[in-house]
Amino acid sequence: MELDGLVALVTGASKGIGKAIAVALAAAGADVGINYHTDREGAETTQEAVARAGRRALPLHADVSDRAAVERMVQELRAHFGRLDILVNNAAIGSTHHGSFADYPLDAWQRVFAVNLDGVVHCTQAALKIMLAQRAEGRQQQSEGRTRETGGRIINISSSHSLVFQRRTSAYTVAKGALNTLTQALAVEFGPQGITVNCIAAGAVSTPGWPASPQGKAAWIRRTPRARMGKAEDIANAVVYLASPQADYITGQILCVDGGYVHSVTPMP
Ligand code: NAP
Repeated sequence: MELDGLVALVTGASKGIGKAIAVALAAAGADVGINYHTDREGAETTQEAVARAGRRALPLHADVSDRAAVERMVQELRAHFGRLDILVNNAAIGSTHHGSFADYPLDAWQRVFAVNLDGVVHCTQAALKIMLAQRAEGRQQQSEGRTRETGGRIINISSSHSLVFQRRTSAYTVAKGALNTLTQALAVEFGPQGITVNCIAAGAVSTPGWPASPQGKAAWIRRTPRARMGKAEDIANAVVYLASPQADYITGQILCVDGGYVHSVTPMP
């Protein structure tokens, strides 16, 4: 198992893409902290799926935009599992204002940034404290006779729409664009400490939070070279790869997992 003996924290893992990521990391051998905000039942369903994969899971409540709550969550995770090796910043909300940017209410704009960008800052700073301390203590992951250094892995979930743009989704788009840049800046800063920081620009996946309408699906499929919607597992598989030892020399990347969408234009009729 690639991730045997490692511990991951996945934010927003009560449903959708975060749930698939938690289950895939567990299938690859990691124990998983399952962050949720409002959906405790969903987090317990994810916990059961992780247990079926033979790994330990811990549901962890926190609104990622609440710094103190995030710090408590990460301490709880460390107290339970003893370490943290992989952070997946997946929790996010969509734009709540769908009108013109000219009228975008400031409080709605700020809420998107509070969850989608500040939330990543809070979780990443809390995780870095543990990852850097593990590194300083020279604590290595030991399992089944293997010893290997694990500086840490941070994987941010961004969107195709941080790279190509739709009308009337400006707060979401700009926050995800900032997340891409944060990924690159942190990759440069923490590479020397053995911590890789990467980003997945996910394509359209029909989830509880982003249910695709029939028209939305048809438009996506028409433009996308792979001619299908994304699956949560497509994103999760890429996360497992970026978390694995094989990806040790990959950092600061924005990996599009979108069936080729960002490289394509809608075909002419
Ligand atoms: P989803 O079905 O809406 O699930 C969102 C998850 O985030 C839930 O677990 C939710 O927790 C959690 N969450 C929301 N606000 C939170 C907060 N303040 N604190 C902690 N957790 C919070 O979303 P998804 O479609 O799986 O999207 C997951 C990620 O993929 C997001 O970063 C999204 O931007 C990205 N993405 C999605 C698509 C798509 O088409 N679905 C495309 C591109 C990128 P509770 O349910 O417990 O409240």
